[in-house]
Amino acid sequence: MTTPVLLPTIAALRAQTRLWRDAGESIALVPTMGALHAGHMSLVQLAKQRAQRVVATIFVNPTQFAPNEDFNKYPRTLEADVARLAEAGADAAFHPGAGDMYPDGFCTLVSLRGPATAGLEDRFRPTHFQGVATVVAKLLLQAMPDVAIFGEKDFQQLAVIRQMSTDLNMPVQILGAPTVREADGLAMSSRNVYLSDEERAVAPILICSMTKAAQRIHDGEAMEAALAPARNKITGAGFEIDYLEVRDATTLATVQGRYRPGLRMLIAARLGRTRLIDNIEV
Ligand code: AMP
Repeated sequence: MTTPVLLPTIAALRAQTRLWRDAGESIALVPTMGALHAGHMSLVQLAKQRAQRVVATIFVNPTQFAPNEDFNKYPRTLEADVARLAEAGADAAFHPGAGDMYPDGFCTLVSLRGPATAGLEDRFRPTHFQGVATVVAKLLLQAMPDVAIFGEKDFQQLAVIRQMSTDLNMPVQILGAPTVREADGLAMSSRNVYLSDEERAVAPILICSMTKAAQRIHDGEAMEAALAPARNKITGAGFEIDYLEVRDATTLATVQGRYRPGLRMLIAARLGRTRLIDNIEV
């Protein structure tokens, strides 16, 4: 088991990654907001296969939360996170303070179009992706990794970061990693701790209904007709659906009609006070 080097400042991150680069070692970056679970660990595993050094970042990024969202109550579990990273064999944990990342006078945000304005998460969280893109750009600029790993769990986010990295000619490979699920299919998420026992018991209805709808589309049924029973089932279980849609998997553009290759089904739905997102290949 390696004990990850703790990097509490941007200066420490830069100094450490420079040492590794100077020694000719490749670096993978795994950005997270902490409260680490097996989904995050799968990203670290993939990172270890892709580079000699792995830096996980733990930063609950204020600019990606709207004022009415859960920034203050978002779980913060640094000690347990570092223990998990040690088990997984990460080489370093970057855990900056908000003042280091956003000093007084900070006023630059990455401006996005394309997948960031597809009308999915952005419709319900209009300032979210500019915060995500800004912090990811900052992390990539400071660590200068060869590869950075993001989960398919946040499918629109992955598309936004791929687009930003292409458009800004960032010299980094962006890799997506498959969604890790609980035994009953619920996608692992740091926000699952908000669910009551009753809510947790019904939550897998999301993925069950989506899987059935995806199968029907795959079998040739018209998309809207296949989605309707899933909508009914999910709302019948007590969810309020923000969106449940099939989109082009690369551009996230709307699609109509029947099955063709390269489709993704995406959902966001609220159960009580918890908002869950998920997506699957169609
Ligand atoms: P977060 O800490 O929620 O910001 O997530 C950090 C990274 O882990 C993002 O790239 C997420 O997409 C990814 N991630 C979160 N949950 C999962 C999961 N269940 N499976 C795979 N990756 C995940």
